[in-house]
Amino acid sequence: MKVRAQTAMVFHLDKCIGCHTCSIACKNIWTDRSGSEYMWWNNVETKPGTGYPTLWEDQSKYSGGWEKRGNKLRLRLHSRAKGLANIFHNPRLPSIDDYYEPWNYRYGDLTNAPAGNDQPVARPVSMVTGREMEIEAGPNWDDDLGGSGIYATNDFNLAALTAEERQQLFILERLVFFHLPRICNHCLNPGCVAACPTGAIYKRGEDGIVLVSQEKCRAWRMCVSGCPYKKVYYNWGTGKSEKCILCYPRQETGQAPACFHSCVGRIRYLGTLLYDADRIGEMAARPDHELVDVQRELILDPFDPAVCAKAREDGVHEAIIEAARKSPVYRFVKEWQLALPLHPEFRTIPMLFYVPPLLPVAATMENGWYELGGAPFGDPVAGRLPIRYFASLFAAGNENSVTTVYRKLLAVRLHRRQETVGDIMAETIKRALDEAESTPQEMEAIYRLTSLSGFAERHVVPPFQREMAIETVLDPLKRKEETGFGFSRPPKRSW
Ligand code: SF4
Ligand code: SF4
Repeated sequence: MKVRAQTAMVFHLDKCIGCHTCSIACKNIWTDRSGSEYMWWNNVETKPGTGYPTLWEDQSKYSGGWEKRGNKLRLRLHSRAKGLANIFHNPRLPSIDDYYEPWNYRYGDLTNAPAGNDQPVARPVSMVTGREMEIEAGPNWDDDLGGSGIYATNDFNLAALTAEERQQLFILERLVFFHLPRICNHCLNPGCVAACPTGAIYKRGEDGIVLVSQEKCRAWRMCVSGCPYKKVYYNWGTGKSEKCILCYPRQETGQAPACFHSCVGRIRYLGTLLYDADRIGEMAARPDHELVDVQRELILDPFDPAVCAKAREDGVHEAIIEAARKSPVYRFVKEWQLALPLHPEFRTIPMLFYVPPLLPVAATMENGWYELGGAPFGDPVAGRLPIRYFASLFAAGNENSVTTVYRKLLAVRLHRRQETVGDIMAETIKRALDEAESTPQEMEAIYRLTSLSGFAERHVVPPFQREMAIETVLDPLKRKEETGFGFSRPPKRSW
């Protein structure tokens, strides 16, 4: 066992209002520079929809992440030898059209136009060519068109539904869309790190943040293709790749990342997880339907004295162990099993987790019975979209993993209704708790962290000091020999 610490995040999707404040906060700090105009390290997508860059989930188009060959894992993009042979030609890159052509407006025309009979307008101007342009796409072009015949019908995850369900979905159109905020997942088995021929991408030992050395990057852009989430971007101005850095300079001074800090819905929870780094390769190669459970298995119990002793031996700082015990991410992911990884079948072991959306629930109350029979898809637990859609998004197709989450979310809803309105029969509550395999105490704890928690409960990461860094404990060469991929030797920091 090799204990490592990872800073991880949970997004509670029922609370996201799709305001994009997170995206703007991130853009203002990190990508408001020449060459990065089209980049959104944090973006918010509307689902069903095709996302940003368009159809990023479709690996038959982009070849990101890992695939299983027999019992072994290999990069979907290429083998090491093939990668080197094709180093000057990478056909799996998204084009600017897959992202969108960034633009600005000629605002000066509004005030400087000569007097005339017509109202002056601010024409859109391409930030790539500097010429006037017609806007045809944007970073969330699906927004408010979720369910439209143009965008949502191309959603990758709809392949999991029957023709009848798809038809139903588009009749309901505006009822069903929800928002999906995305940043780099700071994966445990990152495709971007493995695809980089120069070893410019590395994972920090002390908190697992994945970074690109601006000194070592040679612009091969294999990382852009190797990341199945399309969360590495190429800067056309500097000729280097860039990505979300989880605001580590802010974190090192005890501040939350900008997206977290600015989140209007308070949907984000940031905390530390301890995990067993020795089992990553083996776990990532397990069958699809086991991947959610496997990911939970990798996360270690910070209350277990043996785990803590090993963590200390492996160089994890006492403050980080302490933070892992109070981690809201640990509670959502491991203890309550409510938060799920995004597309675990990409096998990068992402360290961001999502509580799938439940609301609004189409239920009826009659004589103390809470009936979900009115849900549009006749599904006993998932109110507004078929369970298979969420299973495709969050559980590599394993419907049981998602059903378990929904049973618990519904039980919390019933528990709170009973507390505040008191019109539900005790039998109904008992049945819901039994089905969720939960207790009133757990329901109350979930409710409190979901609805009432303050900043200090949602953000539990200690400020980092230099002595907490443990990169040097890693033996990158040994790790590469063992697994074929791994942590690169950390270069001098250049941010
Ligand atoms: S999500 Fe982040 S860490 Fe994971 S493969 Fe993509 S860029 Fe790398
Ligand atoms: S700021 Fe928060 S609520 Fe608004 S879109 Fe971003 S994640 Fe959602």
